[in-house]
Amino acid sequence: MAQRPVILVVGGGYVGLYTALSLQRKLSRGRAEIVVVDPQPHMTYQPFLPEAAAGSVEPRHVVVPLRPTLNRCRVITGAVIGLTHREKRARIAPVEGTTFELSYDVLVMAAGSVARTLPIPGLAEHGIGFKTVGEAIYLRNHVLARLDAASSTDDPQVRTRALTFTFVGGGYAGIEAFAELEDMARYAIEHYYPRLSAADMRWVLVEATGRILPEVDLDMGAWTVRQLTERGMDVRLNTRLESVSDDGVVRLSDGEEFPSETLVWTAGTKPNPMLAETDLPVDSRGRVECEATLQVRGMDDAWAAGDLAAVPDLTKDEPGATTAPNAQHAVRQAKHLADNIVAVLAGNDPTPYRHKYVGSVASLGLHKGVAQVYGVKVKGWPAWFMHRGYHVSRVPTFNRKARVVADWTLASLFRREVVSLGQLQDPRREFVFAANTGRAGQLPPPRTDQATALPPTGTA
Ligand SMILES: Cc1cc2nc3c(=O)[nH]c(=O)nc-3n(C[C@H](O)[C@H](O)[C@H](O)COP(=O)(O)OP(=O)(O)OC[C@H]3O[C@@H](n4cnc5c(N)ncnc54)[C@H](O)[C@@H]3O)c2cc1C
Repeated sequence: MAQRPVILVVGGGYVGLYTALSLQRKLSRGRAEIVVVDPQPHMTYQPFLPEAAAGSVEPRHVVVPLRPTLNRCRVITGAVIGLTHREKRARIAPVEGTTFELSYDVLVMAAGSVARTLPIPGLAEHGIGFKTVGEAIYLRNHVLARLDAASSTDDPQVRTRALTFTFVGGGYAGIEAFAELEDMARYAIEHYYPRLSAADMRWVLVEATGRILPEVDLDMGAWTVRQLTERGMDVRLNTRLESVSDDGVVRLSDGEEFPSETLVWTAGTKPNPMLAETDLPVDSRGRVECEATLQVRGMDDAWAAGDLAAVPDLTKDEPGATTAPNAQHAVRQAKHLADNIVAVLAGNDPTPYRHKYVGSVASLGLHKGVAQVYGVKVKGWPAWFMHRGYHVSRVPTFNRKARVVADWTLASLFRREVVSLGQLQDPRREFVFAANTGRAGQLPPPRTDQATALPPTGTA
């Protein structure tokens, strides 16, 4: 290995950011060069996305900028589009400019997961995911814009379409997004839309299995269904999305059809497909095969962790059990992985990763939540409080913790911010209209997302 090995970290999310942070603290500049590659200039703290969508936390505060935080690393804004670990060479497509190759000595594969979609007619055209800060903010503006549209017309068909919100997938990401956005929309209607009533809205959650929130026990999942149902939300278990027509009519496997201008897909994730362009060994689910030390199977100087890694779960007796794809493991694996790299560089042996899953906390809107931690089941306000306490303690950097707490404090002193900034979706529209055709007194045509209210192709 080189005198000053190059450590390539692919991805600057949970695993990438925490690994690089730990490495830059433990290895002085002279001992290694740490290169972090990510298409985004920031890490996204995904558990706060539902709160960002609901307006409780500023979008900028749920992301952690890579360059200031990883100030002793080289940060490349671009995507690794493939690599040959045999030759220790990665192919990188920067955000602009031509693709180039980078040689490295040690690899940390941390490119996470992507939405697992199905070939459902109309899904790619009309659906949107819930994994990025862009999607969360789009949905916030979109839901509020639907309230504006419904409140500004007497056409019952337009109102029904605008006020029907469909979510697919009942894991924590889907349930939190569903519940937080409904809570925000209900508040907005009750305070600022006298022509609408909360009963005019229809919130439908479609889940293919017989339960939601598989991260908690069955009774807690069932309790959550009851809570959502009591709020007037329509939770359909053992039901699948069959299709979405060109004009936005959603068809379910139970035979029901209804028009809905909002379709959010949160039905699971799959390992980053970029792995197919590498020579790393993958299992039948497309995850990088790892040893308990977090080394890639058969490769001493390649490491992987997080959503894309099949890491043996040493706390379970079942043969072949692997750790679940969640933040709890991602953070701990990252720290363990960094310690192991430092140990190996110093000529010591790596140690196996072992962590027993502690449990889950989920927010269901302001002052509402569900949690199961160390087997203790908590519901309602205390669970919501635990959710906030846990995540603010976990969000990286003191700067972000302080800003998130400031957001919560301000939000508790004033009424909720419920204005749609839909112009962000198409900021050049007014100017292009003025420059091309606009004359005094003429109005530009309605925005695409207001006319059809479905995400433009490309954002799904
Ligand atoms: C809405 C939501 C809520 C969640 N809430 C919880 C929760 O409450 N509790 C919990 O435990 N877990 C939660 N999770 C799951 C948790 O966020 C993930 O398990 C965790 O982010 C996985 O970390 P990771 O580093 O593997 O992937 P990520 O954090 O997704 O990071 C992957 C990074 O790789 C980058 N990347 C992608 N492709 C490339 C490429 N080709 N080259 C370079 N970089 C690339 C991405 O831009 C990204 O920054 C939630 C997830 C979502 C979406």
